[in-house]
Amino acid sequence: MMYLHKFTRWSLKGDPEMGKTLTAQGRPYTLVGVCDERHHDRVVEFFIWDAVCVTCGETFEHRSTRSRFNATANCERHRPKCREKY
Ligand SMILES: [Zn+2]
Repeated sequence: MMYLHKFTRWSLKGDPEMGKTLTAQGRPYTLVGVCDERHHDRVVEFFIWDAVCVTCGETFEHRSTRSRFNATANCERHRPKCREKY
């Protein structure tokens, strides 16, 4: 079972379930992909979500890691200049 858990920040628990929609801060996030990317000497697991921009309501591709899920995600246009580093 996949679900979102918030302790001090949102993180993803359980096995990834493709096509499943989870809700965080009242916004739907649908899991559409999982990929591994190499960052320096370690492999980071990325989760790709269909998300809704909190500012304009447009859907866009949102990426998260298992331990860091940004629940106040904005589309490319409404993203703050200082982007979160993974
Ligand atoms: Zn937007």
